[in-house]
Amino acid sequence: MRIIAARFNHETNTFSPVPTPLENFGPLHGAAALEFGRGSATAFGAFIDYAERMGAELVTPLCATANPSGPAARDVFEALAAPVIEAAREGCDAILLDLHGAMVAEGIDDCEGELLARIREKAPGVPIGVALDLHGNITERMVQNCDVLAGFKTYPHIDMRETGAHVARMMARVLEGAGRPWVARVHPPILAQTLRMNTEVPGIMADLIDLAREIETREGIWAATVFGGFPLSDIPDAGVSLVAVADDASTAQAAAEELGEAAWQGRAGFVYEEAPLEVSLAEARAASGGGGGGPVLLLDHGDNCMSGGTCDTIDVLRAALRAGMRGIVAGPICDPEAVAQMHAAGEGNAVELRLGNKVALPGFPENPPLDLTGDVTFAGPGRYVVRGPIYTGQCCDMGRAAVLTTEGATVLVTERPHEPWDLGVFECAGIDPVSADFLILKSRMYCRPVFEPLCRAVIECASAGITSSNLDLFDFRKLARPIYPLDPISSK
Ligand SMILES: [Zn+2]
Repeated sequence: MRIIAARFNHETNTFSPVPTPLENFGPLHGAAALEFGRGSATAFGAFIDYAERMGAELVTPLCATANPSGPAARDVFEALAAPVIEAAREGCDAILLDLHGAMVAEGIDDCEGELLARIREKAPGVPIGVALDLHGNITERMVQNCDVLAGFKTYPHIDMRETGAHVARMMARVLEGAGRPWVARVHPPILAQTLRMNTEVPGIMADLIDLAREIETREGIWAATVFGGFPLSDIPDAGVSLVAVADDASTAQAAAEELGEAAWQGRAGFVYEEAPLEVSLAEARAASGGGGGGPVLLLDHGDNCMSGGTCDTIDVLRAALRAGMRGIVAGPICDPEAVAQMHAAGEGNAVELRLGNKVALPGFPENPPLDLTGDVTFAGPGRYVVRGPIYTGQCCDMGRAAVLTTEGATVLVTERPHEPWDLGVFECAGIDPVSADFLILKSRMYCRPVFEPLCRAVIECASAGITSSNLDLFDFRKLARPIYPLDPISSK
């Protein structure tokens, strides 16, 4: 038994100016990919576990993951896809892929569909199993070119490994002779907001996931997945998809349609109404004060690293300082120029900084940096190992880091955009974020498992960034129209 397992992940924000060079993927091949993946809390980790338990000959041609950013160049996609396609061409009994579902490269709107179609062409007849992200924009081409498929059922994603194990179990059934199941996809015209996809709170997403789990207990169903989709992607297929895997075509189709109907009926729940920033800041001030209880957490979700944000917009910090808020900890803000200036000045020395807003955002009005004076209280490497529940054990490198302590705020500045996975982000730079009165993070969801329990309140703050929840700010050209809620539409 020869099994190919590979991981190739990118969530592409087609509006993002953040580049996606090959090195962002940190591509590993062969033994290095295997070593990185083994035991990891990813679908790839579960695939490796399955193949090793089976005593199969395991081929791991690729493990490559880049944080969300703009479209990769075509040759980046080609370079990463090539070893996987080549391994498939050499022959195997099964192929297990850990993909995202919303990768776009220059000239390729549907990278996963393209990859799967090419693999199928080189390895006709070999069963292909795919694990996908809940934010995948699922296309018919993906569904047509695999045999079993499942996506995460949690956001924040804490079931990546479980999803991989589910796909591996389905593949085991195929290899044991259960025959090939059917995969059906339903794609109602809904462009859902990422902030409305939290599965931890009551709402449409939690309801749909509950329904999917119930459907999975039914006779003949192998898997049922609710894909919220990734809205900041100007491709025809962006938006909500429901995918079911079942013994036969009609069972799969009926299950996908049942989920699709429930999504359509509950579509209003996918719309995020954002409050003006001043209103959110007033709410934050009202929630602060009193001993204990931790800081008020302000989430700058318009510039979210894990959706392709530049992590350098400065609106929320600027407005908070202007509103007289003090005891602020903010960051990480990506500004290599400011980091260089602070490192040159050295710890303990005063600097005048022009911070943030340095990356031009296509389609957005120009916005000046924030002028700050203060002391450099840290200048060193921005490195830590994640202890939180997502990417546990992963070593994070934010590039060089520096901390500016100014009146009212302590600001962590880094050379690379970075999602605050856990307290290590700040602790590696000598900051205790829990002792702040206000904690400003550029995050939408991933910081929540760690930071929410430590904070007295969570306030979502709108800002003009490339991951804004205000979809009217974006110029969609390829997206299939009409689509709810961008267009008046009364039926799917
Ligand atoms: Zn996701």
